[in-house]
Amino acid sequence: MAQEKMQFKTEVNKLLELMIHSLYSHKEIFLRELISNGSDAIDKLRFEAIKNDALTEGDANYKIKLTADKEAGTLTISDNGIGMTKDEAVNSLGTIAHSGTKEFMKLLESKEVKDNPELIGQFGVGFYSAFMVADKVTVTSRKAGEDKSVGIKWESNADGSFTIEQCEKETKGTDVVLYMKEEDKNYLDEWEIKEVVKKYSDYISYPVVMDTTKKVEDKDVTEEETLNSMKAIWLKDKSDVTQEEYNEFYKHITHDFGDPLKTIHYRAEGTTEFNVLVYLPKKAPMNILYPEYKSGPALYVRRVQIMENCEDLVPVWLRFVKGIVDSSDLPLNVSRELLQKNKMMDIIRKNITKKVLETIKDMKQNEYETYVGFFEEFGRVIKEGIHFDFARKEEIADLLLVQSTSTESGKYTTLADYVSRMKTEQNEIYYITGKNRKELENSPYLEALKEKDYEVLFMTDEIDDIIISSLMKYKDKNFKSILKGDINLQTEEEKKESKENFGKLTDKIKDILGDKVSEVRLSARLKNSPCVLVSGDGDIDMQMEMMLKAMGQ
Ligand code: ADP
Ligand code: MG
Repeated sequence: MAQEKMQFKTEVNKLLELMIHSLYSHKEIFLRELISNGSDAIDKLRFEAIKNDALTEGDANYKIKLTADKEAGTLTISDNGIGMTKDEAVNSLGTIAHSGTKEFMKLLESKEVKDNPELIGQFGVGFYSAFMVADKVTVTSRKAGEDKSVGIKWESNADGSFTIEQCEKETKGTDVVLYMKEEDKNYLDEWEIKEVVKKYSDYISYPVVMDTTKKVEDKDVTEEETLNSMKAIWLKDKSDVTQEEYNEFYKHITHDFGDPLKTIHYRAEGTTEFNVLVYLPKKAPMNILYPEYKSGPALYVRRVQIMENCEDLVPVWLRFVKGIVDSSDLPLNVSRELLQKNKMMDIIRKNITKKVLETIKDMKQNEYETYVGFFEEFGRVIKEGIHFDFARKEEIADLLLVQSTSTESGKYTTLADYVSRMKTEQNEIYYITGKNRKELENSPYLEALKEKDYEVLFMTDEIDDIIISSLMKYKDKNFKSILKGDINLQTEEEKKESKENFGKLTDKIKDILGDKVSEVRLSARLKNSPCVLVSGDGDIDMQMEMMLKAMGQ
């Protein structure tokens, strides 16, 4: 295969430009990113090797090796993981493939980052961060299980293009060679490398090693030294982990760009034993409402990753919960089908649901402002639980935040607070559905309720209709749409009187309109408008049902 020259995708060039020209501090994170890729590659190989032992090629001594060559001015990061084929290399090292790309590009172009490019350093910037410290990068790789002759060599100077060619590679896995910039040669110093590994990559569960030379009885002795403690962070004692370490780990596993909102870490013991380290993110991913969203934390069995996203670990309405669950009891070669039938999975899911709910409730109780931000991001997803999780629907209803005629614009009430403000003679929880608060505030349907000083909830999420018909009641009070059917604002006396006065008129109108309406009724809810159109009480929103089905739920 001859050498081929290819162009980077536009977004890669943008990212590279920012990294090379604007980012002066936090350069050291390049090492975190490259070690993290080596660790991911070993995770993948270990998983594949469960089914096909030959892939280990007799070398299951997994590690990531760092080699600094001061003379050549290079730093090499090698792993003996899964490796890449030519196509994989072209796709992975020429585009930005992962899920947050769009958000990431938006962020790159945001004023915040333009003014303060250091910000980008706290995000998971991936492979391309190599170009912050190197003016040339060479990647040689061979896929585990392939012939030695089909290795690949990828190379770029970050000038908009890269080359790729076939080459021999004896060992499986990947070597990333960085040709360090003059001003970044400090990263070739042993102590500097040790510092950076300790700071950012201590939790990596494979040894990160380097050959170091010590004087023993006046002779130089070179030994392979392990630089990280390797203790899987989720197996550690809570008291031995700092929030900073939790945050680093979160970014490592989720590829999220910012810190998590909440960290939940515990060990469950009982019928089955498992360790849980899960996080609530700050921001909802853009595709969380679409079928391609990959739901759920990673599943590990005794420290081996079995699935990167295991949707059976959390209910669909908590699908934004990310992290790691490590079970001591599941079999290693468990398949997705077997998992779904496994009783242990039910126990684990229920347990995680309970813990996550406790955290959310606690936030609502004690950090209301934070909770509002959280609900604005994830409330739409959590609400689905009212429809799909019958046993928990009341508990979830307690979490809802809704605007109403009694809240300022942009402020919320809970259902419990609404009920506590209900008038003594008021029997139902009134709500109105529509696009947004502004539109609803001007609705003629509100007139009579306003006059009586009844509070009305503004339900502005498209799935609110479904949610309310699933919920039906809250604290024994029925929900009542002020758009549907009749509203009982008059006493029996008053009703009789208006029927006598206006009965003939409504009969006449029905005659004229005929089949166009099913009924013409007197209403006490209008004050300034002469009439409104309403749907029948029992009409459920077919469109809504179809929408949920289309979402694959
Ligand atoms: P991310 O790790 O978030 O996917 P990166 O930019 O760090 O993004 O890496 C891009 C992709 O390149 C990886 O998803 C992986 O497919 C591939 N890759 C990078 N480094 C390695 C490696 N050492 N071994 C195998 N594949 C790798
Ligand atoms: Mg990476």
